[in-house]
Amino acid sequence: MQEYNHTPDILKELQRVQKVVITAHSNPDGDTLGASLALAFCFREMGKDVKVLVPNDYPSFLAWLPGISEAIIFKHKPEECRKAALDAELIFSVDYNCLARTEKMQEIFAPATAVRVLIDHHIAPTVSEFDFMISKTDVTSTSELVYVFLEDIGYKELITKNMAECIYVGLITDTGSFSYACNYERVYRITAELIKIGVDGEKVHRLVYDTYSENRMRLLGYCLSERLKVIGEYGTAYIALSKEDLNRFHYKVGDTEGVVNYALSIEGVSMAVLFTEKENLIRLSARSKGNFSVNEFVRENFEGGGHRNAAGGNSYLPFEETLKKFESLLPAYGQAIINSSYD
Ligand code: MN
Repeated sequence: MQEYNHTPDILKELQRVQKVVITAHSNPDGDTLGASLALAFCFREMGKDVKVLVPNDYPSFLAWLPGISEAIIFKHKPEECRKAALDAELIFSVDYNCLARTEKMQEIFAPATAVRVLIDHHIAPTVSEFDFMISKTDVTSTSELVYVFLEDIGYKELITKNMAECIYVGLITDTGSFSYACNYERVYRITAELIKIGVDGEKVHRLVYDTYSENRMRLLGYCLSERLKVIGEYGTAYIALSKEDLNRFHYKVGDTEGVVNYALSIEGVSMAVLFTEKENLIRLSARSKGNFSVNEFVRENFEGGGHRNAAGGNSYLPFEETLKKFESLLPAYGQAIINSSYD
């Protein structure tokens, strides 16, 4: 896998410019926000004029993140985002590998003349869209890359508690609280440093995970008891939620976060998918165990991608037809799913 590390060039750019824009991906998660906000704190302390742009609303369990209230949401303030991008001298893309991942917000990039920097851990970045990149896939999260970047530019001793909390949130949300994609020493060394700086790991865990609304908890129960389908012969489980289902539980952004992992945690299941019916499309969130790649599965069939074990995609077929298409694909992939192993 090709890696990029243009840290020295990025540092030179930072020393040259005053106006910096940091952009997160659409449907923002703990990693894109944690990494973006940590960078924003750092650049502000370097005396830069920094704006963080987020394509759409973030889930409420991330609303406590330090610095998040200053982020500008494109969906609500498109004009402000357009202006920020036009004025910017340097634009960071954080935790996504192509501009299309910012969905409607991507229009702000074309007229902008700023130098573009990518910091990301997804497979196969669209190289032509960026001037400089830090791109590495065998890491937990972009937040981890941000920590290493800060170390590399000699900023380690200056990391504040706010920055550390943001990075910590990216680490725990992209690893399911250190349960996958983190089986190496460095991530625990970094975690230890963050705790040393003052992160209260227990408090952060409570803020991120113990904040279910009653509706969210009941929706989870409904997913598992009424909407979970297990297809044992192909090692697959899926949960499909229609608009009606979501309305019934007064769905809010973030309410289906983590639901797919319950399906994956069934013994013998190596691929799990959550389908959610949106305005004009069906959104897929896919997970796998071992070396079966949902990244490839989604790329080949559902216009998306991500990581080997976690990927997202879209279907523009009606709800029922999407599920039919998915089930009809399983015989072709079933053997690979069943044989998925950790070797
Ligand atoms: Mn990430």
